Amino acid sequence: MSQSVSDSSTSQVLQEVLAANEAYSGNFGTKGELPLPPGRGFAILTCMDARLDPAQYAGLSEGDAHVIRNAGGRASDDAIRSLIISHKLLGTKEWFVIHHTDCGMELFTDTIIRNLLSKSLKTATVDENGWRNVTEEGGSDEARFIPFLTFTNLTDSVTEDVKRIKSHPLVPKDIPVYGFVYDVKTGKLNEVAEATQAGLATA
Ligand code: ZN
Repeated sequence: MSQSVSDSSTSQVLQEVLAANEAYSGNFGTKGELPLPPGRGFAILTCMDARLDPAQYAGLSEGDAHVIRNAGGRASDDAIRSLIISHKLLGTKEWFVIHHTDCGMELFTDTIIRNLLSKSLKTATVDENGWRNVTEEGGSDEARFIPFLTFTNLTDSVTEDVKRIKSHPLVPKDIPVYGFVYDVKTGKLNEVAEATQAGLATA
């Protein structure tokens, strides 16, 4: 007897996702014919925060643009890897760096998360006294090798990331990189002038 991952014994979230996908694929229309390179020729680097939906806030449909997401929307080595592929092999010509208000990356430091992880891998809690492990067993010191790329100032984090991308030797000078902060209270994108200035295309 074959066993499907969507058996009733499995997670509710898993069942919901598979049901949603059934409906989505049933209504797929002509999207199967979309070409691989993004049709509108641009890429967005943004945070993984669940309140952000780049397709909604930037008006994207399937096939339009690359969206690269990580914690904070930071210009990590891996984000830059994706942007380089996005341009070099898939032709994007304009990039956005979009961080957001109330970002969780402002709520801890490398030291805090490394200490928490060294004592337990279970989800920590936070209150007015800061972050705290619920149990203290089964941790690992491996986090000391991970730069978590936290920040304390949104304008600075966007500007720093635009500058890092623009100054990378594998990023062509003629790609403009725009810097924005998404406001989770209003859904509005607010430009960070200093970042966009730093990200101007040059010949
Ligand atoms: Zn965030």
